[in-house]
Amino acid sequence: MNFNDSPAEAAFRQSVREWLSANAPQNWKEEFKKGLSPALALGKAWQAKRAAAGWACIHWPQKYGGRGASLIEQAIWEQEEGELARLSGFFFIGQQMAGTTLMVYATEEQKKRYLPPMASGEEVWCQLFSEPGAGSDLAGLRTKAVRDGDDWIINGQKIWTSGAHYSDYGILVTRSDFNAPKHLGLTYFFVDMKSPGIEVKPIKQINGNADFNEVYFNDVRIPDTQRLGREGEGWKVALTTLMNERAGIGTFYKSNFKQMLAELGNMTIDGKPALEDKALRAQMADFYVSMSGVRNINFRMMSDLSKGKHSGPESSVSKLIIAKQQQDEAAFMMDMQNYAGILAATGDDEDASQQGYFQQWFFSSPALRIAGGSDEILRNILAERVLKLPADIRVDKDLPFTEIPSGV
Ligand SMILES: Cc1cc2nc3c(=O)[nH]c(=O)nc-3n(C[C@H](O)[C@H](O)[C@H](O)COP(=O)(O)OP(=O)(O)OC[C@H]3O[C@@H](n4cnc5c(N)ncnc54)[C@H](O)[C@@H]3O)c2cc1C
Repeated sequence: MNFNDSPAEAAFRQSVREWLSANAPQNWKEEFKKGLSPALALGKAWQAKRAAAGWACIHWPQKYGGRGASLIEQAIWEQEEGELARLSGFFFIGQQMAGTTLMVYATEEQKKRYLPPMASGEEVWCQLFSEPGAGSDLAGLRTKAVRDGDDWIINGQKIWTSGAHYSDYGILVTRSDFNAPKHLGLTYFFVDMKSPGIEVKPIKQINGNADFNEVYFNDVRIPDTQRLGREGEGWKVALTTLMNERAGIGTFYKSNFKQMLAELGNMTIDGKPALEDKALRAQMADFYVSMSGVRNINFRMMSDLSKGKHSGPESSVSKLIIAKQQQDEAAFMMDMQNYAGILAATGDDEDASQQGYFQQWFFSSPALRIAGGSDEILRNILAERVLKLPADIRVDKDLPFTEIPSGV
């Protein structure tokens, strides 16, 4: 496989570079650190600017707010935007997960209504899947949907819903048939987050932020027109969302290699430049080699996607490696900072190196090993689908949902 740009791709890359150098916001990191409102305002302004110039959701059709370009061109944008990707994080669930699902299951009218403001960042979306008793075993969810004329009435609780507190819409999986086996009784909707009966309660994390929430549904009405896929076929729709989530996480997160080199370049070990130390160089080489492997796996995945194939187990490999490596890199850098490594757990200590960049990663990176499929679940997928090892034991798969022992 040839990873070099074709002449057309090189020209596209050049136009991305030119547009970014003329339009990218300057000194945004200070403002971004000030809290949710300024960060969201920055993200929305940047996304709107991108959309107005045709640089949002690059591989989406133009009529839905995209550029009508290829997935490879989308990937070129992602390589060139670098750290600016952080400004677009608010829109990841909408664009990478909800958008790609609407693209398959929504009506033409709905696509024209909801996709352009999703691409431009005007409307933000969240993912209402996980519940207190249904995370890895998502098909065990219990939020209940009951048909009432042209509407559905929803009751139940979701948890870990990232961005629910600033989202306009959410994608939602519910149980509409408690007598069917667990994967067959689910129905998928999208919901207006301002609907009466929705209550959002923030959850505080170890890094000091409250990025995700508990979301309660008390007799929330959703019109049947907002159902995506057939009644009882919500699992199939959810799989479209989940495949895109994992593929997105694997390609969205970038290596910290540049920041690490910058910081290590200012350090000494036994009076000599740290970067000349053999053990340190070996560790950095290990990080580099595994990131290069992930990069090549991502290229293979994109090459498959651009030929119309689904993203396969590659997305599990990328996510598995990246999540662990981000944690290892942060811990390594904090060790290297010696006593200063304990400064700036919340990024507000003026003496902290790089404004607590690695400390922030240290506290944020464990979440990545759980979100979008935990390490163990990804290993199960690789064991079963790639290595063809015997499948995990799933005794409840064919039982009617009501007969599965639950303790509730
Ligand atoms: C930062 C973050 C953001 C998130 N955002 C969202 C969101 O926006 N929307 C949303 O719906 N959800 C979200 N989630 C939830 C996420 O999808 C779940 O946390 C995840 O699927 C794991 O589910 P759980 O927390 O219920 O853990 P469990 O499924 O209870 O797992 C507990 C432990 O058991 C292990 N385990 C479970 N089953 C198996 C098995 N079969 N074999 C081996 N080990 C197993 C797991 O690996 C884990 O270590 C988010 C999570 C995080 C961390």
